Amino acid sequence: MKFSEILGHSAIKANWTSSIRQGRVPHAQLLVGKEGNSALAMATAYAQYLSCAQPTDSDSCGQCPSCIKYQQLIHPDLHFSFPIFGADAICDDFIQDFRAAFIANPQLSLGQWFAYLKADNKKPNIPIKECRNIIKKLALRPYESSYKVLVMWLPEYLGKEGNVLLKLLEEPPQNTLFLLVTDNQEAILSTIISRTQYTRIPSYTYPEIERFLVEQKAIASDIAKNAALMAEGNLSKAIELASELDNPQFEDFRQWVLDCYQGNMTKVIGDMDKFSEKGKEGIKLFLLYGIQLFRACLLMAQNSDKLQLNSAEKEFVSKLSKWVNQSNIQALYETFNKAIFEIDRNGSVKLILINVSLRLKNCLQTAMAHANKP
Ligand SMILES: [Zn+2]
Repeated sequence: MKFSEILGHSAIKANWTSSIRQGRVPHAQLLVGKEGNSALAMATAYAQYLSCAQPTDSDSCGQCPSCIKYQQLIHPDLHFSFPIFGADAICDDFIQDFRAAFIANPQLSLGQWFAYLKADNKKPNIPIKECRNIIKKLALRPYESSYKVLVMWLPEYLGKEGNVLLKLLEEPPQNTLFLLVTDNQEAILSTIISRTQYTRIPSYTYPEIERFLVEQKAIASDIAKNAALMAEGNLSKAIELASELDNPQFEDFRQWVLDCYQGNMTKVIGDMDKFSEKGKEGIKLFLLYGIQLFRACLLMAQNSDKLQLNSAEKEFVSKLSKWVNQSNIQALYETFNKAIFEIDRNGSVKLILINVSLRLKNCLQTAMAHANKP
């Protein structure tokens, strides 16, 4: 991974590359930051730069034999250690999955990693057997580079047995580097922290995330803006949210409810023109989707854990539930179900939808004299 492939963090990148050029390479570093801030990718880019045969002042070349192996995470002097499951396992058993998951998603979170392994219910752990394997691997000389590198992702999952690594951290074999990457510094053994040099990797800012979504992921700017605001500096979460918000059914419904609430009939009629492109079956599905979100409003008011919504829907429903409640839910169900029935009977779709819109507008405006805009 090249530094240029990672969003932001330009001051840290400049600082690191300059230190490496001056031959200042601390043998154990701890990178600390919140999830979704590319810290693991930064550690890997650091190691790639260090091993590159033709680095520039600011980045690895991406083309030398070392970089080519680094890009695929298969360099023989690059070792990864990370949370796995099962007391008797070592990370080498999972390394192919790890490479694939990390290359596909450089902001990989622990949740996403365990989902990738289809092990959501398993307990993450870096077992003692893995620690012993690290000691064995790092006792060997580097094969091809000047340095051997161990990137340990989430050392907070080491547990007490991590202490067997202390001696190695204190007196590492020659030309051996430790790059520890954590999002929960408090949970790391203090004996390990005291033996490392600390770098904080900050969370991303809203504008950084918004620009990334628009420029790198081709997300529409209003969706990118909302996703960036909701993600709170977590790039990985922002990418997920953007794809959820990009669901046209949801965006259409959200916009329509907003237009009805504002009583802007010109916009509502514009919405109707747009919806008629869905075709009859598409409109029926759209109305059923609306009923599903109304039902979710009631469940949310009861703090039910039966809600099956994505984060964007949850956010919207939590606001809508201030206005859609016991007093009007029956009228809304009836209006939407009647519309589906009439569309089946070949009624005029546009006329039916305008009636639904007027009814929705009345329900919302009555219910929310004091509520805020969704
Ligand atoms: Zn290179």
